[in-house]
Amino acid sequence: MSRDPYEVLGVDREADVQKIRKAYRKLAAKYHPDQNPGDAQAEERFKEVAAAWEILGDEERRARYDRYGRDVGAGEGFPGGFQTDFSADMFSELFDFFGGGRSGRSSQPKLLVPLEVPFIEAARGGERRLKYQRKAPCGGCKGQGTHNGMPPKPCGRCGGMGQIPAQRGFLTFASECDACRGSGVDTSNPCSRCRGAGVSDQEHQVSFRVPPGVTTGTRLRIRDGGHYQRGSSSPGDLYIEVQVAEHPFFTAQGKNIYCEAPIGFSQAALGGKVEIPTVDGKTVEMRIPAGTQNGTEFRLRGKGIGADGQRGHQFVRVVVVVPKNLDAKAKAALRDYAEAVGDELNEQEKSLWETLGSLFD
Ligand SMILES: [Zn+2]
Ligand SMILES: [Zn+2]
Repeated sequence: MSRDPYEVLGVDREADVQKIRKAYRKLAAKYHPDQNPGDAQAEERFKEVAAAWEILGDEERRARYDRYGRDVGAGEGFPGGFQTDFSADMFSELFDFFGGGRSGRSSQPKLLVPLEVPFIEAARGGERRLKYQRKAPCGGCKGQGTHNGMPPKPCGRCGGMGQIPAQRGFLTFASECDACRGSGVDTSNPCSRCRGAGVSDQEHQVSFRVPPGVTTGTRLRIRDGGHYQRGSSSPGDLYIEVQVAEHPFFTAQGKNIYCEAPIGFSQAALGGKVEIPTVDGKTVEMRIPAGTQNGTEFRLRGKGIGADGQRGHQFVRVVVVVPKNLDAKAKAALRDYAEAVGDELNEQEKSLWETLGSLFD
């Protein structure tokens, strides 16, 4: 009798299907024949894991197993119960899992370079030049990876296929050729400079435009700015990942810019004009009406982020600063002021105290 499938996958009997699937994938990856070429024990474990998943991954079969303590039904067609072979379903699942390595082999590796952009440049856009390292064809072999750049010969082991077919049960599946590591190229006489890689790290420079309004996390794609691969005549793309630096005065949200402007108490009361910096690098004059309250927000139309004609706005929040360290003259003036407006303030204070007092009645 084969082992308990719960035990095989190392999950408890109450585990839900997600948990079981996770355990199965982990073990299947560990014992997969591609990972353990020629290891008969690993292959046995792999089969065992697969068979356990066939039972526990199937709601009905799992219920039957839980009830009878063995794989009733499916096992009857196959002596030994767990001797089922790998189903197509299971394979699509495994290939899903290993998929990245397999189907991704022919695509160019992605090159991602981070770039910090000053706040103002991110808002207004700008021209940039960037120097970075990328894999480019080795000069010693002209990118072939072979000695003196001789035309590459197919791998003698796999005949250039990069894979070697292997029979397992009913199915034939391919495992990566270990002589050429799946490249299909004869690597017995490699270029001494790049050791057969065909490429080496080289400095490259690109010029590009930072579009207005980029935000942190924006990826700018530079066509052909990426890595070369051995034997390929065109490089992949470069992705520049933008990180917008903080600004001491401005913050941004979408196309709008926010800032705070400290104004004097008398300015707030009497009204006046304040110079406000904008991301254009110039200042604009903002009118403050008399009686402006602390925290009031004003809008500077079209001074936000974006291309001309579609710019957001700049919002300016006024912060009324209460003066400190007044000299005698200023203090005297303020006392006069307090006397002059005293009644008005008292009215407000009175109603506030009345409201508070009534809460304790
Ligand atoms: Zn090969
Ligand atoms: Zn080389």
